Amino acid sequence: MNQDDKAPDHGAQQGFGTRAIHGGQQHDPSTGAVMPPVYLTSTYAQSAPGQHLGYEYSRTHNPTRTALQNSLASLEGGVEGLAFASGMAAIDAVLKLLLPGDEVVASNDLYGGTYRLFTKIFQHFGLVFRFVDMSQPLQVERAVNERTRLIWCETPTNPMLHIADIAALAEIKKRSGAMLVVDNTFASPYVQQPLALGADLVMHSATKYLGGHSDVVLGALVAKSEHLAERLRFVQNASGAVPGPLDCFLVLRGIKTLHLRMERHGTNGRVVAAFLKSHPKVKKVHWPGFPDHPGHEVASRQMRNFGGMLSFTLKDDALEKAFHLVSTLQVFTLAESLGGVESLCGHPASMTHASIPREERLKSGLEDSLIRLSVGIEDPEDLLADLQQALDKL
Ligand SMILES: *Cc1c(COP(=O)(O)O)cnc(C)c1O
Repeated sequence: MNQDDKAPDHGAQQGFGTRAIHGGQQHDPSTGAVMPPVYLTSTYAQSAPGQHLGYEYSRTHNPTRTALQNSLASLEGGVEGLAFASGMAAIDAVLKLLLPGDEVVASNDLYGGTYRLFTKIFQHFGLVFRFVDMSQPLQVERAVNERTRLIWCETPTNPMLHIADIAALAEIKKRSGAMLVVDNTFASPYVQQPLALGADLVMHSATKYLGGHSDVVLGALVAKSEHLAERLRFVQNASGAVPGPLDCFLVLRGIKTLHLRMERHGTNGRVVAAFLKSHPKVKKVHWPGFPDHPGHEVASRQMRNFGGMLSFTLKDDALEKAFHLVSTLQVFTLAESLGGVESLCGHPASMTHASIPREERLKSGLEDSLIRLSVGIEDPEDLLADLQQALDKL
């Protein structure tokens, strides 16, 4: 396996499931191993100075990481994938392409860690951030100027499930010369293909759906152009926030069932959303699959299904009620994170968004009783029975 080997070019024509299993992969040339071995090595023998088989040092290249990166490129339809130690490390690498004075237009309801990285770290290095409602392309258009280098989009968003129109943002970035990056974590490449819709770069917290089993932390980028890939490859090696080979192996294994899992996440999400919507103790369900969701039309256009993420509020909008509910659920585990095979629940007002003042939270629609669900791939009847018993006890 040479690090220069790219995904075979027939990959793009094959179906998603075939690419999830074979995309960019080849059997290990030395043994025929069907799965890429976990190459636990930091360095590689050279026969003479500078003479080697394409691998010199594992920060720069590792064959297990190469296998994962080729798979990622194939899934997102990009020229190159790059793996990082975490989703945050991947975002960090993108921001390091910018210079002081450069501007970034980003969603005003970003993942909290992304917002923190932007405002608490990169702002100090002279980058300027403008936060807008990305579900309104006009707001993005107004915030973009000649210094804008990056448009950073998340869709669907956390925990309100707002939808941004990727193709519309791609039109704006074309006129402005900025680069469009989509954090595709909530959708996964099976559900949404940002590069095909005009984005330049896709980012993933592979910790979530790509890994899919809540057993690894890893980040990924997939670039549309060779030029962008080259600049990111330089940062990846220079800054060195790379994942270890075992973590790459785990994500690669997760990816092989991504299409099956995402189908089930989608159907279970639909069943749970419909159940909650009809429940007398539930006030509002945020799920883009409902025709009255403000992003429904765009989501139907750019997503294969509506995914497994949703959030809802209670009629009795009290912190204690939501607290009680998430503590009474049994099949749904109360925990941070999302995207694993198991169902998780969370209470943003006291967990992920606890540091935001209540007034600010309410302004963005994040009410006291808002509960977020990452609907897993268990039997749907058991998920509904669990929600029913917990709601009964309120
Ligand atoms: C989890 C997450 C991240 C950060 O990824 P880590 O792997 O936790 O570093 C970024 N964006 C979104 C949307 C996420 O859910």
